[in-house]
Amino acid sequence: MPAATAAVVAVLGVVWYVVWSSAGAGPAAVAYLFMPAGMLVALAGLRSMRRTTPLHPVAGRFWRTLEIACWLLTAGYAILAGAAFRSSPDLPFMPIPSVVLAGAGMLLAMAAVARVPLGVTGRQERGKQGLDRTIAFLGCATVLWHFGLAPMIDAPEPWSPPVLAIVLLAFLFATGGITKVSYIGQGPVDRAAVRLVACSGLVAAVVAVAAVAGGANGPVQAQALCLPLVPVLVALASRRQRAAAGARVRQGNIMLPYLAMLATDIAVAHVLFGSSPRSETRIVVIASLLVTGLVTVRQFLAFRENTALLRRQREDEARLRHEATHDPLTGLANRSLFRRRLDETLAGEEAMVLLVDLDDFTTVNDSLGHDAGDELLVAFAGVLAEAAGPDGEPARLGGDEFAILVADPARGEAVATRVMAATDGPVGASRLLVHVSAGLASAPAGTAASDLLRAADTAMHVAKERGKNNWVRYASGMERAAQQHARLGGELRRGLDEGEFRVVYQPLVGLGDGRIVGVEALVRWQHPERGLVSPAEFIPAAERTGLIVPLGRFVLRETCRQAAAWISEFGPEALAKVAPNVSVRQLHDPDFVGDVKAALADAGLGAERLVLELTESAVLRGAQVLRVLHELHDMGVRLALDDFGTGESSLSLLRAFPAAIVKLDKSFVDGIELGEPGTAEADARQAVARAVVQLAGALGLDTVAEGIENQEQADRLHALGYTVGQGYHLGRPVSPAEISARFAAEAGLRARAPAAA
Ligand code: C2E
Ligand code: MG
Ligand code: MG
Repeated sequence: MPAATAAVVAVLGVVWYVVWSSAGAGPAAVAYLFMPAGMLVALAGLRSMRRTTPLHPVAGRFWRTLEIACWLLTAGYAILAGAAFRSSPDLPFMPIPSVVLAGAGMLLAMAAVARVPLGVTGRQERGKQGLDRTIAFLGCATVLWHFGLAPMIDAPEPWSPPVLAIVLLAFLFATGGITKVSYIGQGPVDRAAVRLVACSGLVAAVVAVAAVAGGANGPVQAQALCLPLVPVLVALASRRQRAAAGARVRQGNIMLPYLAMLATDIAVAHVLFGSSPRSETRIVVIASLLVTGLVTVRQFLAFRENTALLRRQREDEARLRHEATHDPLTGLANRSLFRRRLDETLAGEEAMVLLVDLDDFTTVNDSLGHDAGDELLVAFAGVLAEAAGPDGEPARLGGDEFAILVADPARGEAVATRVMAATDGPVGASRLLVHVSAGLASAPAGTAASDLLRAADTAMHVAKERGKNNWVRYASGMERAAQQHARLGGELRRGLDEGEFRVVYQPLVGLGDGRIVGVEALVRWQHPERGLVSPAEFIPAAERTGLIVPLGRFVLRETCRQAAAWISEFGPEALAKVAPNVSVRQLHDPDFVGDVKAALADAGLGAERLVLELTESAVLRGAQVLRVLHELHDMGVRLALDDFGTGESSLSLLRAFPAAIVKLDKSFVDGIELGEPGTAEADARQAVARAVVQLAGALGLDTVAEGIENQEQADRLHALGYTVGQGYHLGRPVSPAEISARFAAEAGLRARAPAAA
């Protein structure tokens, strides 16, 4: 409503001017009434808007300041109107209070617009905008100066300094306002409203031009035709702010610097072809040069920014490409890149693949945690890349499965051997032991990649079935063997349910007197079709399927029961210990300690007679496993380290691990009897056996020498300090009945011995 009323006032101004100028009716002073009258209407609208619209604090400040500015302007022009009626019929000089009030109003309006936030963040962005605005300001200022202010100053009838000052302020307001509002994004103060306010500055500039161009009637035209537009704009602006809701964010005007340059060009053309004084020409040309220079700087900055953007985009693209084809954890090529390379190779020539799988990786993950698992994978990826060297490209196909695309098929075996050798020692910062099983396969050009991968996979599984930690080259027909092994896993369950497993016992014999001091319990599978299956064949499958837990429980219970039976038959001296084997997987079973307790209690066997044989492995160090081992130790159960000396960390393991017995591995017994006693060769062959017995002595551990196959070996080991031995020479693994017979014979010897004495 106020906007419409203000517009009516402005139209009345036009009507009055037409009537007045054509009929010469009434005093010219009436022209001075329209602006203050319209302004009062606009002020009423502004005030009501401020009262009824919820405003952001920044917007509130803007409109408050603007309202004060409008009051000052109204007062200034009301005083001017009074002066006009007093001096009628002459046109008035602007009284000083009027100049001061109007000037203050304009300054305040300028301040209000200047304080509207631009909504930009970042130093660089602000700097760029500062430059843009300087360019735009210079361009606008040049035009307004050249076409507006300069003619007023050079006019034949010079304008009074107060009026010039007001016009100058109006110009500044127009220029500053326009350049500023072009950059205001959508913020708390409505952008269109600010533009309307800034436009009122432009009206003031037009007023000046109109006043100059209108000759004698110029001031009247300006007062009646142009100035009443200012209240209309203010009223429209406050209406905009009231309606502003859900405004969308828009970018500032990026064309302004170019428009500014164009504007100075117009001024330059005008001085070039017009008749401006020399000094004016100079000013315009200098301003134009400045604007051109600044635009050049702006262009250069934009160019630099674009180059940086382009570079960043290229880097992003490269990174994305790398991420799509590489494994994020290890940085190796991923499955899809590997497949692509393999397809490319097979399209033209023979290809060879080495498939590598970590042994027992799930156990590492379960016992040491996923971080350790990840660390192991990363460390292994490094080992693999190094082992592959220039002969092949490593990739991680997923999980714990890796592959190498071997460049020259003739080098395949060398690569496989290097990979196996590289995992001999501990890897990574945590010095973890990692063993791998690998399958090597090649195929002529034209073979489907999936066929080649399947062959390598078969070979890898055969390697696993053959006891892991080795590699196998694919041969035709291997699938059948692999299938058989897969079937083995399924059959284990059935065998367990059908009671096809039984336990045999191998004597542990005193090397001095040849008497049995204990027995090791070894499981056997009496398969209905295949006959006796070796544990070397089915224990890995049982571990993989988890069936080792119920199987181990069966062996443990059966062993304890049998031991108790022997003791009750032959007396407590007949048998000092029974030693079943325990797989690491069983130690992860939460019921394991309970099972041991129950087996001992149900059989009525003392815990001190039970020895659990454990094979060293990467996972024996897990915190949970160590806790279980200490619990067993505290119960009085003894722990033996089986196959001692074959693992990498045997020695350090002894400290963390509450072991009571070490069993020297058969590989250090083999050939120990060769070489003349005292010679360097004999010394070398005995070196490990001697070191282990000395170490065990120092740590207070008992020893057992495994795999003794002849008397010479037994003698040498005895001489080295071993008191207990095990091996085919001292007694093969046999049924309980045969062990009973040996006990009976020994008991007979014992019974006869005192009689003979
Ligand atoms: P191990 O615990 O080191 O057992 C010794 C292995 O060496 C036995 O093979 C035994 O028959 C064999 N052996 C003993 N003396 C000699 C010898 O003088 N010469 C030769 N060449 N061999 C000898 P077996 O019974 O085939 O067991 C193989 C492995 O299977 C065992 O090695 C053990 O690690 C594992 N195993 C056997 N029974 C069980 C079981 O109940 N549970 C678990 N978890 N593992 C078992
Ligand atoms: Mg054993
Ligand atoms: Mg052994």
